[in-house]
Amino acid sequence: MHLARFPRVRLAHLPTPLEPLPRLGEKLGLDLWIKRDDATGLAGGGNKTRKLEFLLGDAFEKGADVLVTQGAVQSNHVRQTAAAAAAHGLGCAIILEARTGSTAPDYVGNGNVLLDKLFGASIRTVDAGTDMNAELETEAARLRGEGRRPYVIPGGGSNPIGALGYVDCAREIVTQADDLDLAIDRIVTATGSAGTHGGLVAGLAVMGADVPVLGFGVRAPKARQEAMVLKLARETAALLGRPDAVTDDMVVADCDYVGEGYGLVDQGVIDALVLAARTDGIVLDPVYSAKAMKGLIARTAEFRGETVVFLHTGGAQGLFGYQSVLEGALGHGGTVEN
Ligand SMILES: *Cc1c(COP(=O)(O)O)cnc(C)c1O
Repeated sequence: MHLARFPRVRLAHLPTPLEPLPRLGEKLGLDLWIKRDDATGLAGGGNKTRKLEFLLGDAFEKGADVLVTQGAVQSNHVRQTAAAAAAHGLGCAIILEARTGSTAPDYVGNGNVLLDKLFGASIRTVDAGTDMNAELETEAARLRGEGRRPYVIPGGGSNPIGALGYVDCAREIVTQADDLDLAIDRIVTATGSAGTHGGLVAGLAVMGADVPVLGFGVRAPKARQEAMVLKLARETAALLGRPDAVTDDMVVADCDYVGEGYGLVDQGVIDALVLAARTDGIVLDPVYSAKAMKGLIARTAEFRGETVVFLHTGGAQGLFGYQSVLEGALGHGGTVEN
């Protein structure tokens, strides 16, 4: 594997830190570490920035002048894409799906949406359940009709080119762990559109690192999530010239902690947000990273004593779209005893 063979635009602050979380680790009975991909830098950071480095590389190679992408209203992927476009003089056309059904003013106007507008993206919002891939093609055709050269980025930036960003992250984690003499038993991450999980699995497999990855789902049921991740991990390994490196057993998703659905917050999510914030000063996000932490908290007894790396995929900007949901649950804050 030789990532320098793929066109790439530098967007992220790399490497992101791999840090211990001793206080939360003690509470959970784990040797817990955190990989700070919430600190990739662009537009406040997050996991999509690594994918966008390779996607923009490909876009420039193809002569594109406008990026087209889609996501849920509070999409972190869309926010990072809008920022990457702005930083490189590209146009950005966004289609947002009203997936959660929320019409709360903070959800539809604050957080990531406010930032999308700040970065100058054009935004069109469509109903929940719309065929978003068809919308992307329609938008691209419209732009072509205007003489533009659109580059379509799928939801979450999750295709084999985008997943190269998480191949690179896998390499980075193993290098950092080796430098620290840290033998990792398990990597835990949120898994959604599958590029993060699939890229990690592909990268670890191609390296022969033998580190299991546990993905906590945020939307799809287990069978569908695992099929999606496996397909993308295989395609990504093939892009790296190692089509047989990924085996079925390398892909494990746990989708038991989704709760009511994508982007919907329950008490377990709030407890995870509060615990990470008040134990180690870490800001998780309500849609992805706090759901993964909710799963890790629930299953921690199974992993007791293990060295676990929690991949923080970012998303804190989305918190400001959830003020009306979270504020009541947080009350007036904690007590002086904490
Ligand atoms: C998109 C996203 C994820 C999920 O990553 P995928 O590559 O889509 O599976 C996790 N966390 C955050 C904060 C995200 O924005």
